[in-house]
Order: sequence, then structure tokens, then C-alpha cells
Amino acid sequence: LLERFLESVAARVGDVEILSGAACAQRYRDPFQLFVDGPPPPAALRPRSVDEVRVIVREANACGVALWPISRGENLGYGGAAPAEEGTVVLDLARMNRILEVNVPDAFCLVEPGVSFIDLFDRLERDGLPLWLSVPGYGLGSVAGNALERGVGNSPYGDHAAQICGLEVVLGDGELLRTGMGALPGSGMWQRHRSPLGPRLDELFLQSGYGIVTKLGLWLMPEPEASAAVEAEIESRESLAGAIDALTRLKRAGVVQDSPVVASYLTQAALHSTRAEWGPPGAALSGEAEGRLRAALGLGWWNARVRVYGPPEVVDLGVARAEHAFAGVPGCTVRVSRWRAGEPMARAHRGLPTAEGLANRNWCGPHGAHIDLAVGLPLSGAEATRYAFFVSETMAAADLDYHAAFYLRDRHILNVVQILFDQADSAMCQVVDAVYFRLIEDAARRGFGLHRAPTRYRAAAMAAYDFGDGAMRRVRERLKRALDPNAVLSPGKDGLG
Ligand SMILES: Cc1cc2nc3c(=O)[nH]c(=O)nc-3n(C[C@H](O)[C@H](O)[C@H](O)COP(=O)(O)OP(=O)(O)OC[C@H]3O[C@@H](n4cnc5c(N)ncnc54)[C@H](O)[C@@H]3O)c2cc1C
Repeated sequence: LLERFLESVAARVGDVEILSGAACAQRYRDPFQLFVDGPPPPAALRPRSVDEVRVIVREANACGVALWPISRGENLGYGGAAPAEEGTVVLDLARMNRILEVNVPDAFCLVEPGVSFIDLFDRLERDGLPLWLSVPGYGLGSVAGNALERGVGNSPYGDHAAQICGLEVVLGDGELLRTGMGALPGSGMWQRHRSPLGPRLDELFLQSGYGIVTKLGLWLMPEPEASAAVEAEIESRESLAGAIDALTRLKRAGVVQDSPVVASYLTQAALHSTRAEWGPPGAALSGEAEGRLRAALGLGWWNARVRVYGPPEVVDLGVARAEHAFAGVPGCTVRVSRWRAGEPMARAHRGLPTAEGLANRNWCGPHGAHIDLAVGLPLSGAEATRYAFFVSETMAAADLDYHAAFYLRDRHILNVVQILFDQADSAMCQVVDAVYFRLIEDAARRGFGLHRAPTRYRAAAMAAYDFGDGAMRRVRERLKRALDPNAVLSPGKDGLG
């Protein structure tokens, strides 16, 4: 069947690139995998246009072959480019990489899935456009794939899914859908107006496996007149609750638009040093090692940052309020940096798409990798601290280090814990795996859910959402059957397992 599928795709889609064998195995795996779970995907298809995607989907239906769409496949920490199930053909959309529109007055873009953060950033730079892009900590991925996974960046536009305005989607039966105002022929409102008549369908295609997104509209941040960052080193591990509550009050006062972030010292340490410099493997870092590390790298136990944007008066007020908020947190050292329009852009507080974040790979040595645990918590210092201490102690008991960041959103905290490990240490990989499953169960017991899950843990994380004896599951199964009747798209993606 696979051969028949590949032959008929090759015959009908002249321009498609087909990869198989070693080239496919090398490219479409999860470079951060804990275990070699199964054989690599049998083939990958790299189309150039939506028409080609539709033909491929129709042929997949005819031949009973499953497809795993990816935009650039840089989903590191969450499963990489590898399909969830054996035998699935990768549909790599990286060659569909046109930036179809950048609109300055209304601050949006319309991109194909293969457009990377670097492509879009370069376009804004090259044309001198006064729009800022929110980028994730690792910037080599795609604008579309990241937003579809509900990725995050550090800017007022850092909730990337929340900036989506209008999708074009090929459904599992090959039908082409445009969501929102895109459904109204000839409308110029597709990327401008998110709440047209009827239900908003964009959300159906996030983390779902119900369709292949071939165009994505995204709101961008208009360049502000000024920006500033207020950064604080917080000495004591026990000060987390105070810091979170102070930053929550600051956010609720309406003077900062950004998601303030508080991160443990190891998140920074892993970018600038290796674990071996501070302590032997197979044992939690001693208090002495922790002190030595923090002194050498100039880090608080927690390191927090608030960014402020807008007219200079607004930024001045935000900085003053942020300084005041941090002044109430014991053992806090504050540093402010400012930028104004016309000054060198290197000083502006905007995201740059780089691979620098990948440096933390080396923390556990040359075979280092990580998986992310991303959990939504209440916006409460006491609850966040209880959870942070529980997770860090669970990890310390398993001789794992605690690299964690808390992003303060409007009504909740997004807590991302990076679990760094050595892929060459199979015992450590087993431990990481067991700890991850335990943390999923524990989060559910506390009433917290995962916000995004690595492919391997998706079904376990999804199983916790079982109100009404699995009503969510049944509805999602019905949606899947309606939109992808032969289940040819992204098997295993929905976490229903
Ligand atoms: C050091 C480090 C730091 C990181 N920091 C961050 C961070 O700050 N924020 C963050 O969000 N992530 C972060 N990541 C995780 C990850 O690298 C990024 O989220 C990255 O942008 C995802 O890769 P991608 O955009 O190429 O998506 P892809 O791998 O292309 O897509 C991800 C998944 O989305 C689905 N999908 C993608 N495209 C489509 C489509 N067109 N149609 C239907 N389904 C689709 C598929 O299931 C796919 O597997 C980090 C990773 C590392 C290693």
C-alpha cells in the first residue's frame, strides 16, 4: 500500500520531494528521545503548494496511508519531527515557505507553514518594517507549527496561539477550509477580525490532528516608542511566593503588558556551563555547589524579569511600579535597561530568533537532551511555591536537576520545567521517564493539567481530562471522525491513544 501510495503521489504531484531510507530516518526522528521506540518513518513527502497537499491527502485516503504533518519539525522537547505511530509518512511542509502578506498598519502577517521565525524576522528587518515578532527560546522552528502547538515567547504577544487570526486548512478528506472571515469570499478582513458569525473554528486545529494548516494569520506587535526590562536576582528559594504575588499585583494594575517570568538559577546556569563543572553526576547538587555556581555566574536562586512597552511615560511608570514591586521581595537586587525608538535596536527588548537556547543541551554532557513538562497553575504565590517545591524535591530524590520557569499570564501561571538528561545514560532515561509519568498523575490530582505534552506522554496527560466519564474524549472522537473520516491525519496526535 505504501509503495502504491508513493508511486501515485509521484505520478500526480510532479514537484513533490520524496525521502525514504537513511535520509528520512536521520531527518524525521526525535533528537531528544529517551528511548528508540520503533523504526523511523518509512517515507517523507515535501510538497510545495496547497494543491499538492490536497492530492497527497486524497491519495492517502485511497491507499489507507497515514500522514504526520509538520511545519519545520523543530518541536524539540516535545517529540521533534517524529510521528507518534509507526508506519506514518511525514508530510513536511517546510518547502511551503512564502510570507504571503505583512500588513504594517494593522500589524499582522499571513504565512505558509514552512516560514521560520528567522525568515519572518529577516523580512521585517530587510524591509525596515516597524513590527516586532515574538519568538520562543529556541528560534529555528516555524511561526505556524509553534503557534499551532500553543508555543510561547517572551513579549506581550508571547501567547502565540492567542495571536492566530484565520487559518487555511486541508481536512482529512481533502476538503479545503478557510476559518473566520476567510470563509467570506473576497473579504479583506481575514486577518483583522476574529469573531465573525458562528463558532470560531481556529481553535479546532490547535494540538488536534484534525487538519493540515496550509496558511496561518498571526497578529504582530507594532514597534513601541520605548521599552524597558526590570530584572531581579532573588536570593532565597523561599522568596518565590512573594515574587509571584508582587508580580501578579503589578500585572493586575495594568501597567505591564508582558508575561513576567520567574526562573530557577539552573535555567541560566545550563546555558553558560555544564553540570560536571559543579558536581558529580548521579547526585543532586550540594548546597555548597549551588552557592559556588550562583556566585560564579551572578545568579539569584530565582531570577525574574518584567518588560514594559509603550510611550516613554508609560514605560517610566511601568519601570517605577516594577521596581516598587521587587522592593517588597526580600533579598532582591534589581537592574533596569531601557531603549527608545531611534537608539540601536540591539538594546530594544524584542525577541531575536536564535539557536542559543540549545546550549543547555550540554548541561548533561555531549549526549544531553531535554523534555518539557508544561503545566498550568493558579496565579497564586503560595500554590505555585507548593507545586515548585514538590516538583523540585521529587526531581532531587531522583538525582535530577530542577530547571523551571513560571510565566505569569492573565489568569494562570504557565510553569515549564525542563528535564535535562544524558541520552547515553540508559538508567537516567528510565528514571526521567518514570518521573515524568508520576508528575502527570500528581498534577491531575492537584487539579492541574498539562498545557502541551511530548508525543510519548500525550495520551497519559490527556487521560486526566475525563469529566463526565470521558465526555471530552467522546466529543473529540466524534470531531475526528467528522473531519478526518479515514483517520489518515496525525495518528496519535490527539492523545486519545
Ligand atoms: C532549548 C529550547 C528552548 C525552547 N523554548 C521554547 C519556547 O520558549 N517556547 C516554545 O513554544 N517552544 C520552545 N521550544 C520547543 C520547540 O523547539 C518550539 O516550540 C518550536 O517552535 C517547535 O517547532 P516547529 O515550530 O518547527 O513546529 P513543528 O515541529 O513543525 O510542529 C509541531 C507539531 O505541530 C503540529 N503541526 C505543525 N505544523 C502543522 C500544520 N501545518 N498542520 C497541522 N499540524 C501541524 C504537528 O503535530 C507537529 O508535530 C524550545 C526547544 C528547545 C530545544
